[in-house]
Amino acid sequence: MKIFKVAAFTAVFAAQFAFAQFKQSPLPYAYNALEGNIDAQTMEIHYSKHAAAYVANLNKAIAGTPQEKQTLFEILSKAGTLPMAVRNNAGGHYNHELFWTVLTPQKDTKPSAKLTKAITDAFGSMDAFKEKMAKAGAERFGSGWAWLSVDKSGKLIVSSTPNQDNPLMDVVEEKGTPIFGIDVWEHAYYLKYQNKRADYLTAIWNVTNWKEISRRYDEALSKK
Ligand code: MN
Repeated sequence: MKIFKVAAFTAVFAAQFAFAQFKQSPLPYAYNALEGNIDAQTMEIHYSKHAAAYVANLNKAIAGTPQEKQTLFEILSKAGTLPMAVRNNAGGHYNHELFWTVLTPQKDTKPSAKLTKAITDAFGSMDAFKEKMAKAGAERFGSGWAWLSVDKSGKLIVSSTPNQDNPLMDVVEEKGTPIFGIDVWEHAYYLKYQNKRADYLTAIWNVTNWKEISRRYDEALSKK
C-alpha cells in the first residue's frame, strides 16, 4: 500500500513536470508599442500564435526524451542529432525569445562605446554593418533569420540561417553567440509590408534595442 502511494505520488509529480518545461517570457512591451514600424496585429499574432506554437511543440517533441532535462543551449548545440521537430521548435523558441528583447519602442537607445568600436572594426562603419545585415535578411530565400553574433574568437560576424536554425546550432556553418537577430519569415512583416521585405528591414532600425544588444555583447564576451 505504501509503495503504491509512493508510485502514485511519483507519477503525479512527474506528470506535472513532464510538460511546459519551456515557457514564453512576457512580451516586454504592448502589441502596439512598435506601431509605425511593426503593426499591432502582426505583433499579436507573431507572439501569441507563432511563437507560442514553437514552445508548445518543443515541449511536446521532447516529452519523455532526455532533452526534457536539458537546457535550451544544450539542445541547440546538438540540434543536428535530434529529430527535426526538436531542431525546428527549439530554434523557434530561442530565436523569438531573443527577437522580442532586441526590439524596443524606446527611441534613444545607442550601442555602447565598446560595441560601436567592435562594429567599426569588423565591418568598417555602422552604416556598412546595417547594409550587411539588411543584405543577409534580404537574400535569405524563403524563411529564416539574419544574425549578428560573437564568434569563438570574440569577433563580430553577420550571417543568415534558414527556417528556425541559429548560430548556436551544430548544423550551422557560421557559429557564434547571437546578440541581434531579425526574423525574415513572412509572418513577421507580411500584413504591413506584403512583398516588400526590404522596407521591413529598413524599419527595424527605428525599433532596434541597442541597449539590450550591447548587454548581450558584453555577456557573450564574458563567456569566452
Ligand atoms: Mn517569427
